[in-house]
Amino acid sequence: MHIPFFSSQPMHAAIRGEMLVAMARVYDSNWYVLGKEVTQFEQAYSEFSQVTHTVGVGNGLEALTLALRALGIGRGDEVIVPSNTFIATWLAVTHVGATPVPVEPELTTSNLDPELLAAAITPRTRAIIPVHLYGQACRMPAIMALAHVHGLQVMEDNAQAQGAAFDGQLTGSFGAVNTTSFYPTKNLGALGDAGAITTNSEELAQRLRVLRNYGSVTKNHHETVGYNSRLDELQAALLRAKLSYLAEWTAQRQQIAAWYTQHLAGITNLRLPTLAAGATHVYHLYVVHTPFRDALQGYLATQGIGTQVHYPVPPHLQSAYTQLNLPIGSLPVAEELAATCLSLPLWPGMTEDMVGAVASAIRRF
Ligand SMILES: *Cc1c(COP(=O)(O)O)cnc(C)c1O
Repeated sequence: MHIPFFSSQPMHAAIRGEMLVAMARVYDSNWYVLGKEVTQFEQAYSEFSQVTHTVGVGNGLEALTLALRALGIGRGDEVIVPSNTFIATWLAVTHVGATPVPVEPELTTSNLDPELLAAAITPRTRAIIPVHLYGQACRMPAIMALAHVHGLQVMEDNAQAQGAAFDGQLTGSFGAVNTTSFYPTKNLGALGDAGAITTNSEELAQRLRVLRNYGSVTKNHHETVGYNSRLDELQAALLRAKLSYLAEWTAQRQQIAAWYTQHLAGITNLRLPTLAAGATHVYHLYVVHTPFRDALQGYLATQGIGTQVHYPVPPHLQSAYTQLNLPIGSLPVAEELAATCLSLPLWPGMTEDMVGAVASAIRRF
């Protein structure tokens, strides 16, 4: 059985008619940037996220960059980031002129360890960016409490966890400004690049609307050195159509994860995802850990099963960050996770038979 790592085909086949109607509506509107489709999607995403404001932008990296700018973070500042995140979280900090300061995750959940935060705080620290990695909510109450004590901003990177919650509160609603990505493979995916920032502050939302549009408040008046990073009308229309299915797709992801957990139980040298007490998981990815990762990935490929590694090289070991002088061995938890993690196929529309076939292949290996 050929099982791809990811396919949007079942999702997209089911809503094809609706998506084409949305495309035609934008096509016929003659208005393609910052119009009513963006406003309507922003309202719908705010309702979904239980926040008062959403600002649609070009992609997840720019969402992070603009959010840091809106908080006034820049040269000379330090921002705490997870050592094992996708590099975009670090890049945004670097782009605004600040320094990313990595903190190690919990080995069990792969999410930022709140107990390790205090030791990373210096007089220059301005913010913490928790990343809800793979779709599981970070332990936000502990992170928020520590940030409060030290007078730090919190900015969630919610690119992988739309709809997850901790103690009943949705991810993307804890921090002062929080970012997400609608890259096509994310749980809510556009048909191209797109991203957004969520906030409960009217003032920060207004600053972000200015920043995304050349720093312009009114046409031809530029109050700050802004960007061109706008969610476009076409993606907004498509995202609004897809948003009404997100809860259903999330439930399917959780069902598929439950099948994996059941079918993969009791295999030695294979560690399955762990949930923190209080956290929900929307399974952007189902990630297992094994010391035989590379061999297992190779074997599954011979069986027609697609897998990926998120992420094989942590940011501190990338050439882009040699200037931080963090050699191999300096962040051992991130390095161990990078060496052992494997993401299994998971997409709405996968059947229990497919999950069973993946599990049988892993057991044979
Ligand atoms: C995908 C992702 C991003 C970047 O989003 P883009 O839209 O691809 O720029 C940032 N952070 C995390 C954790 C991501 O998974």
